[in-house]
Amino acid sequence: MDIAANLAHIREGIAAAARKANRDPSSIRLVAVSKHKPVSFVNEAAHSGQLIFGENYVQELAAKALQVAVAVEWHFIGHLQSNKAKYLAGLVTMIHSVDRISLAEELDRQWERLGKTCEILIQVNVSGESSKSGATAKEATALVKQISLLRNLKVRGLMTMPPFFDDPEDARPYFRELRELADSISRQEIPGVSMQELSMGMSGDYKVAIEEGATLVRIGSAIFGER
Ligand SMILES: *Cc1c(COP(=O)(O)O)cnc(C)c1O
Repeated sequence: MDIAANLAHIREGIAAAARKANRDPSSIRLVAVSKHKPVSFVNEAAHSGQLIFGENYVQELAAKALQVAVAVEWHFIGHLQSNKAKYLAGLVTMIHSVDRISLAEELDRQWERLGKTCEILIQVNVSGESSKSGATAKEATALVKQISLLRNLKVRGLMTMPPFFDDPEDARPYFRELRELADSISRQEIPGVSMQELSMGMSGDYKVAIEEGATLVRIGSAIFGER
């Protein structure tokens, strides 16, 4: 497997999808999802210019962050238990998966101790599948308002994971719904809140997600191979 070649291929795919949607390719950031892959893969990707890495498990992220030789940025993208929030403080620059006020309050406490702020996204379960975490679209606006009062967190947008489809076109309505929800929250002009980021799209469907407005695509297997 050639990580550098895979990355180059994905970067071309991102640029092509952006052009198709009349968007500036530089408005889309690639999060390389390295879960269950060795730190040597992260180092290899970092040496080919990849800057942002996404992890789903706290211990795994913490271990890798210690071992990576190059300056990279870590995003947490998995389901997060409140009692593990403390291990992320100081390690990650963004958390994509905030879906409840109790978790937000704990993150706020941990970043308060650090004396820093943490950028977060609200994970929304647009499909309503019971197997998926995330706030419902209905809950999301109220949750954003509550979190906007926490001084050490900055709400930057929304994240979603649609159901898996063989045909990525089938995911389009879910991506569109996330964008429409972000637009609707944005119109409320909640102080301190921005809806500039839409984290959506994975290896199989990132092009469709970019056409629907993704600013962060989370790609694992197309870069690092199947898990
Ligand atoms: C694993 C994972 C990804 C990457 O999925 P791929 O299909 O391997 O690209 C993206 N987002 C989340 C939340 C994940 O858990």
